[in-house]
Amino acid sequence: MSGVAAEFGELYGTAPDGVWAAPGRVNLIGEYTDFNEGFVLPSALPHTAVAAVSRRDDGVLRLHSADVPGGVVRLDVAGLAPGRPDTAAGGWAAYPAGVVWALREAGHEVGGADVHLASTVPTGAGLSSSAALEVVTALALSELYGLGLSGPELARTAQRAENAFVGVPCGIMDQMASACAAEGHALFLDTRDLSYRQVPFDLAAVGLRLLVVDTRVKHALGDGAYAERRAGCEAGARALGVRALRDVDVEHLPAALARLTDETVRRYVRHVVSDNDRVARTIALLDAGDPRAVGPLLVEGHASLRDDLRVSCPELDLAVETAVAAGALGARMTGGGFGGSAVVLVEDGLAEDVADALGKAFRDAGFGAPGVFGAVPSAGARRVG
Ligand code: ADP
Ligand code: MG
Repeated sequence: MSGVAAEFGELYGTAPDGVWAAPGRVNLIGEYTDFNEGFVLPSALPHTAVAAVSRRDDGVLRLHSADVPGGVVRLDVAGLAPGRPDTAAGGWAAYPAGVVWALREAGHEVGGADVHLASTVPTGAGLSSSAALEVVTALALSELYGLGLSGPELARTAQRAENAFVGVPCGIMDQMASACAAEGHALFLDTRDLSYRQVPFDLAAVGLRLLVVDTRVKHALGDGAYAERRAGCEAGARALGVRALRDVDVEHLPAALARLTDETVRRYVRHVVSDNDRVARTIALLDAGDPRAVGPLLVEGHASLRDDLRVSCPELDLAVETAVAAGALGARMTGGGFGGSAVVLVEDGLAEDVADALGKAFRDAGFGAPGVFGAVPSAGARRVG
């Protein structure tokens, strides 16, 4: 942490006003449910974006990241506007600049800042390095400008930045996880009203481990797929006469499916309704102190994403099949799919075997080596210096 503060000093010539951290996340279950006003169950990763930040009130925003080449990006706060790449240098700077824009859009007087960032969240691995970046910026500015924003308010600001300023139509899960997660817990989030509850998920205490398998691939296919799935789900909700697919109870799923004529929409509806139900069943098991029984639900969820929503890919399918064959309790892709990461629930004593089996299976299939690491459920955004 102090490394980031020291780098800030070298860049800007003074010590920062403070240092903040916000984590990436892994979603245990509930995928593609957040834009259907449904349920999700993410945990924060130990990996964080760390930002050293100073307030400045002269209308200048200076941004720097230790993780990308290039120097300090200098922007005029009053000139920030979506769709104007000159105002945020196009690339990565759009994430923190978008947060400043979103805060000002919401009526907060943010007059500028000096920001230096460094992140340990793997980028583009479906682990929400982007949300970590946004949320850490939002928290730092909220504190430096005395805005007193709550976790959900930080998350909404971050999502607005990503949707409207960066131009990525993401749901609210990633930002809520980064802003509101708690150590040793999973965050049960109702994306309809952003109400949430911390669900006990202290795996180490019960001899379990959660592994993340980063396939290190990102298939181009994913680019249009998100919007297409989203449109298909909205079409399903319209056809069923509900506000969102969240309103279809799993008991009424067969009747709902029978009313849908479009085969694709029918598959999407089946995934969303059944995955919402899997979130509820997972939470019931965790509340009951039976995390091992969650394994089969992960496998079921993966099959649904693979066969009904069709957002998996050979690398993710191989990761899940291999982990389960090597003795894991369960596994599934996590995040948007088409590459990115899978999550594996495994007994402590078998974690090494599973990791070895994954390496071998990927080698045998001619795929690049996956990154495998333990995901201890960690804290949400906070001040660290
Ligand atoms: P994910 O959120 O799953 O990691 P995204 O494509 O949503 O993937 O976000 C990745 C983008 O976020 C990167 O391309 C970059 O623009 C930005 N980003 C993430 N981490 C950093 C960082 N440490 N420094 C600068 N930009 C970053
Ligand atoms: Mg992202």
